[in-house]
Amino acid sequence: MSTAAVPAGATPTFYRDTWVEVDLDHIAWNIAQIRKQLPEETAFIAVVKANAYGHGDVQVAAAALEAGASYLAVACLDEALALRDKGITAPILVLGATRPVDVSLAAARGITLTIFQKQWVNDARMHLHDKDRLKVHVKVDTGMGRIGIRSSEELTEIEGLIQADDRLEWEGIYTHFSTADEPDTAYFERQLGLFQEMLGRLTRQPEMIHCSNSAAALRFPKARFNAVRVGLAMYGVTPSDAVKDEAQLPLKEAFSLRTKLIHVKKLPKGEKVGYGATYETEEEEWIGTLPIGYADGWIRRLQGQEVLVDGVRAPIVGRICMDQCMIRLPAQAAVGTTVTLIGHADTSFIPVDEIAEKLETIAYEVLCLIGSRVPRIYKRTLLA
Ligand SMILES: *Cc1c(COP(=O)(O)O)cnc(C)c1O
Repeated sequence: MSTAAVPAGATPTFYRDTWVEVDLDHIAWNIAQIRKQLPEETAFIAVVKANAYGHGDVQVAAAALEAGASYLAVACLDEALALRDKGITAPILVLGATRPVDVSLAAARGITLTIFQKQWVNDARMHLHDKDRLKVHVKVDTGMGRIGIRSSEELTEIEGLIQADDRLEWEGIYTHFSTADEPDTAYFERQLGLFQEMLGRLTRQPEMIHCSNSAAALRFPKARFNAVRVGLAMYGVTPSDAVKDEAQLPLKEAFSLRTKLIHVKKLPKGEKVGYGATYETEEEEWIGTLPIGYADGWIRRLQGQEVLVDGVRAPIVGRICMDQCMIRLPAQAAVGTTVTLIGHADTSFIPVDEIAEKLETIAYEVLCLIGSRVPRIYKRTLLA
């Protein structure tokens, strides 16, 4: 076995010194860790929406399937079609709403859709051709207030509509928790209770029953049913402190954001740096320039955030530009030195959560923020 940084999929050609390193071995490791917590027969639905939380859709999908995932989930039909176009043949569930006019296309490409209201079923049936076979999962809204069926009457009506139509194959039913990552579990319990009540109303239960995201899958065995939908934890990030405390899983972050020093200079005391000339050197200082800016998702609010240069922390000084930003170096450093903005560098580490805290947001948003202008390269162990 040899370890190498290899692109898994089409080899991207790029000519810039800023990149995201995606460690597919870590994703496989995380899936193994999570699956160890689950009964053997629990299906692992790998959530790869939003370009696999910024990691790269087909690369993560392939790695997850190899690591034991049996189903994929995305947000919209376009994401599912993109995976099909890139050669993924595994089942894919679209979690969001699909336009009724597009159901025949979904059926043709073997993509599973979500039913979340009765009117949608009626509209969708008008667009299905006789020969179409469309797999569906019914989404129940137990308190998230987003999409889903809210009453058992509507569920019963939908059950009738599906069963009367040979073109619809009812494979699953699910719901989604809004507080599974919070210390207080009362609202979670209420949602779970409602879901169980809805399940009790069915005349026949479909094959797949799932309601757990990462947090619920790791914290609440009773909410696992026979499948879990895992996103964030698969990427090595734990959804919240409550989950961290209770699950204690040795997950490994798969996402590292790196760049290189492209310019280094010594400035005398009293010199200004960046738009608005807001930063002034307090003494003689080494200032380095990095080729990453807000157009890459490295947004202006990250001014002051530290990065790792040779494992040592250095702050971003002055305003972040569209394509570049400046840092105050602890000492002279060579042009071409690798700088880590997110991830490990030697023994130092900037976790995704540190950036999330700085931005007063959540890790999910940080991962989604890093734009498509930043190439992704893939690290995975090659099996000899
Ligand atoms: C995004 C999403 C998930 C995955 O959530 P994580 O917290 O990332 O595990 C699961 N289910 C639904 C419906 C989602 O939208």
